[in-house]
Amino acid sequence: MIETINCLIIGAGPAGYTAAIYAARANLKPVLYTGLEPGGQLMTTTDVENYPGYPEAVTGPKMMDDFQKQAERVGTEVRFGLVTKVDFSGKVHKVWIDDEKEIHANSVIIATGAKAKWLGIESEERLNGRGVSACAVCDGFFYKGKEVAIVGAGDTAAEEALYLSNLCPQVHMIVRRDKMRASKIMQERVIRKENIKIYWNSETEDILGQDKVEGVRLKNTVTQEISEIKVEGFFVAIGHQPNSAIFKDFLVMDEIGYIQTIPGTSKTKVNGVFASGDVQDKIYRQAVTSAGSGCMAALDAERYLAENFEH
Ligand code: NDP
Repeated sequence: MIETINCLIIGAGPAGYTAAIYAARANLKPVLYTGLEPGGQLMTTTDVENYPGYPEAVTGPKMMDDFQKQAERVGTEVRFGLVTKVDFSGKVHKVWIDDEKEIHANSVIIATGAKAKWLGIESEERLNGRGVSACAVCDGFFYKGKEVAIVGAGDTAAEEALYLSNLCPQVHMIVRRDKMRASKIMQERVIRKENIKIYWNSETEDILGQDKVEGVRLKNTVTQEISEIKVEGFFVAIGHQPNSAIFKDFLVMDEIGYIQTIPGTSKTKVNGVFASGDVQDKIYRQAVTSAGSGCMAALDAERYLAENFEH
């Protein structure tokens, strides 16, 4: 049976939950589908020190639990399920959950976030889950007391290298240029940490090992020198890809897949479909900016529903 939903929210990170809080309080009767990873990327973050209102810091999972409880307390229905297909060609937006259930939504707020990128080398795929990971916070514990490598030079790589340095005797950080992209404070922390060794101008040629990670082969892009390091874990922290593929036939996106919205709003090119959070933001990508854009999406949806549908 087809279900009609007034305000459908897709995604359960800061953007989705904040949209839900605002939509519920505006009596839009929101239903939020979590996807397969409720809480999103914050579930793999340790301490969040930069979200206002948590003076003692908070873990990502605890913060997401708080967001969910707040969304539910004000009247959001949170459901576990994955949106597998959409059809935004009509006034009523069609959405399918788990390839089965069909929903007709008067308004849709997309808050599906982004996911980790990979290097794309054969050994990385073959050894994924056997020493190769894109989440130090999830998997670092398995490498307690062992040497590991991490590739990347952004805030994620810096944060994960520091996390690993508290578990592992030596962390080898592979940086492809002669500088890091990470914020100054994070760079300084990494450079000061004595058990993090940085390999500048270095590319990962190969991850060594048949059934488990045994080492990494590096190439110095300036000297062309090849070197090998013995490690048992290899962490990839090189950025993210927006989770937008299912919307590509209906919405305007940039070349990477970030959904484009009308500047200063959450409106997509389809009336009644709004985008918020990391799926449409490649610049700020913070929990707090994501939450702010979720709020914007709910306010935009409220206005749209008032103008186009009778309550
Ligand atoms: P970024 O896009 O900022 O950084 C990606 C890093 O990976 C860059 O240093 C890039 O190198 C490197 N890289 C990309 N592709 C490759 C490759 N094929 N081989 C080797 N290296 C590669 O992503 P992050 O995930 O680090 O951060 C995303 C956003 O989230 C940022 O805005 C960041 O500030 C924010 N963030 C904030 C945190 C906080 O405030 N606590 C924590 C984590 C993230 P290059 O520099 O050469 O392009």
